[in-house]
Amino acid sequence: MKENGYKRMKNTIKRIMKYIYIISPKYFIISILLTIAIGFSSAMSIWATKLLINGIVEVSTSKSNKFMEIIIIYVAVNIFIQLIKSLNNYVTSKHQLKLEYKMSMDILNKCKFLGLKDFENSEIYNTLSRAKIEGQTKVYIAYRNILSIITQIASIISVAAIILSWNSYIFLLAFITPIISTLINTRIGYRNYKMRMERMNEVRKTTYINYLLTNNIACKEIKTYNVGSYLVNTFSKIKRKIQSQDLHITKIRTIWSMGLGLIDELISLFIIFKIVEMAMLGRILVGDTVAYIDSISIIQSNVSRFLKSLSEIYSDILYVEEFYKLLDLEVKDDYEIGIEIQEIREIEFKDVSYTYQGANNYTLSNINISICRGELIGIVGENGSGKTTFIKLLCGFYDNYKGEILINGIELRDINTNSLRKCMGIIFQDFNKYELTLRENIGFGNLDEIYNDNKILMSLEEVALKEKIGKFPNHLETQMGKWFDGEELSRGQWQRIALSRTFMRDADVYVLDEPTSSLDPISEKQIFSLAREKSKDKIGIFITHRVENIAEMNPKVIVFSEGRIIASGSNNELIENCEEYIRLLGLKEECI
Ligand code: ADP
Repeated sequence: MKENGYKRMKNTIKRIMKYIYIISPKYFIISILLTIAIGFSSAMSIWATKLLINGIVEVSTSKSNKFMEIIIIYVAVNIFIQLIKSLNNYVTSKHQLKLEYKMSMDILNKCKFLGLKDFENSEIYNTLSRAKIEGQTKVYIAYRNILSIITQIASIISVAAIILSWNSYIFLLAFITPIISTLINTRIGYRNYKMRMERMNEVRKTTYINYLLTNNIACKEIKTYNVGSYLVNTFSKIKRKIQSQDLHITKIRTIWSMGLGLIDELISLFIIFKIVEMAMLGRILVGDTVAYIDSISIIQSNVSRFLKSLSEIYSDILYVEEFYKLLDLEVKDDYEIGIEIQEIREIEFKDVSYTYQGANNYTLSNINISICRGELIGIVGENGSGKTTFIKLLCGFYDNYKGEILINGIELRDINTNSLRKCMGIIFQDFNKYELTLRENIGFGNLDEIYNDNKILMSLEEVALKEKIGKFPNHLETQMGKWFDGEELSRGQWQRIALSRTFMRDADVYVLDEPTSSLDPISEKQIFSLAREKSKDKIGIFITHRVENIAEMNPKVIVFSEGRIIASGSNNELIENCEEYIRLLGLKEECI
């Protein structure tokens, strides 16, 4: 093992122990004490057996009257061993449950602070997957291995005392094969780790295909295009590749373990021969003979288990590091820091440019716009022209833009994100369908009012869903969606739920990104008039690809093209002097 590898291993082991200690110092200490006691129990067991056999021999030869005493000692020792083993099982199971809980909470709490930018970063996304898939279970496995090393050391020390009192070179022989096998296992373990990390993307792909084929979201398209078999074949190809890699490693392991097993057997045979020879020469009693044979086999198996645990820890730790890498990710808790704002009166983009990570060109270039309270803004532009990116910047999802975004004259990056978002009601194109209760689906828009039935019902009424929902058996507590056997809605109805969630918030700015894409024309008109009503004396920003809605809403229109604002003005002004706007209108008419 390289020096820095050793150092890393030491630090990670320290970190695991500290992490587990913090979960429950009491259980941690009891666990360690029981682990040591179990280690010493091997020698106790050998000693009790030796006592019993020698006792039997003595009874048959010299009619010793101590037999009852010996039986009581033998039984007491074995009951004691059983007790500490059972107690240890209970303590470790309880500790494991606590550990699992803490780890999931730590991961979720970290993810809570990850921003959109982080989820779009493939390196962070991979770390998250590795931490979840491999790291989480490996922390406990590494801890178990550390405990088992402690047991083995205690066991080797206690049993060694029995052997060393007889013959020291025999004692050394017991170490030969385990040492070779550890060196080999460590090497194979490292190869295995590298292979698993390299194929992480492929493993994720199989998880994704599995998800596509086993839920109702993708089902319709998969059936329509009949791509089920194609996906199954892709899954099977990747899985077979993964399996053949695993099989190759298993083969190497098996070949080595067969060879080493053979050497181990020969060494054991030699040692047993030596012990039996001494017994035949009358130098040791029958009980001692059995004790020496047992001791040698316990030492051999413990040394090899000790070294195996050591090499397993080495490879476990490589995975555990992924878990800690996630916990160490620097995330900004921008909910806590920054200037708190109470309202949004004015928004100004000053020469703002933005590029996504990995993109060659600017997605948004030199955006200049000022929006004041009372204004209604309609954003139009071709697909990919940057409309949603503009909204995402305004909502504070990315802070690595050039230029300035000013809210009431304060730079957005300096503002407390929580206070900013409290002033905003937003519905995105890809709004969430929460497979939770109806109350939660709407109340998430304003957690302070989640138990305000009147407000929720009013919000449902505004989006014309009150009647439909009134028929649900459990009213606001009705489970929504199909995942948990709840009420399914049409996409348009889900969109209205998302809208009523948006309007639950008494916001200063309403941002609606394609809010009516799944609605019929009549409902669409209702929603647009509701949006206009809600945005009165506030700021209303809506993106729509149905340019004909613009005339009716009569907003200030902003036209995006290739990441730039190429024109702005009223519907009539743009019809007169913006070719792109006319083209967008024309395109729409052609489509109709
Ligand atoms: P619009 O809303 O006008 O359809 P978007 O703002 O969604 O356009 O996208 C503008 C451009 O940015 C597109 O070329 C798109 O491919 C790219 N883009 C959007 N989101 C991302 C992302 N998360 N990562 C990289 N590129 C993105």
